[in-house]
Amino acid sequence: MALNLMQIYKLLPGENCGKCDVDSCMSFAMKLLKGEESLEKCVCLYEGDRYAASRTELEALLSETGKVEKTGLLIDEDRCNGCGNCVIACPVTSMMDAGSLSGRGPTTDDVVFRVINGKLQITNLEKCRRTGEQKTCRVCADVCPTDSIEFI
Ligand code: SF4
Ligand code: SF4
Ligand code: SF4
Repeated sequence: MALNLMQIYKLLPGENCGKCDVDSCMSFAMKLLKGEESLEKCVCLYEGDRYAASRTELEALLSETGKVEKTGLLIDEDRCNGCGNCVIACPVTSMMDAGSLSGRGPTTDDVVFRVINGKLQITNLEKCRRTGEQKTCRVCADVCPTDSIEFI
């Protein structure tokens, strides 16, 4: 699942109270997205049951962020037009499934990502070359015509 800032922000209480040591829920959402802050810091979210549903949803979303943090790779689904340039260009994906080089698209979810229903979806982030200390590869972002791929 691709994550974006608004997805996280919309689930926060929106009280802009500053109890999490930043000036607004939006700033806190950005910190969560970058893995710089933990959800528990938003005390409002954990007061009573008022935000219980949002809390559960955020906890699930942020377990995905943990994976994103390893690579820094984020996809903006709203911008992605499903062209598949990134899939063809990704060295890992082409090595794992030669079909992707011909533009037919990978036939397995073992590759880093695929275009599914017109949007780029991560299927196996662990295979991305940005996993680990050397976050040097950024080929997919460089070939994207809509700037849908960002490294945080
Ligand atoms: S503590 Fe929660 S509600 Fe208050 S500003 Fe931070 S994120 Fe928003
Ligand atoms: S950063 Fe490199 S290895 Fe990772 S998905 Fe993009 S092109 Fe593939
Ligand atoms: S290159 Fe960009 S627009 Fe095309 S599928 Fe990849 S992320 Fe989407």
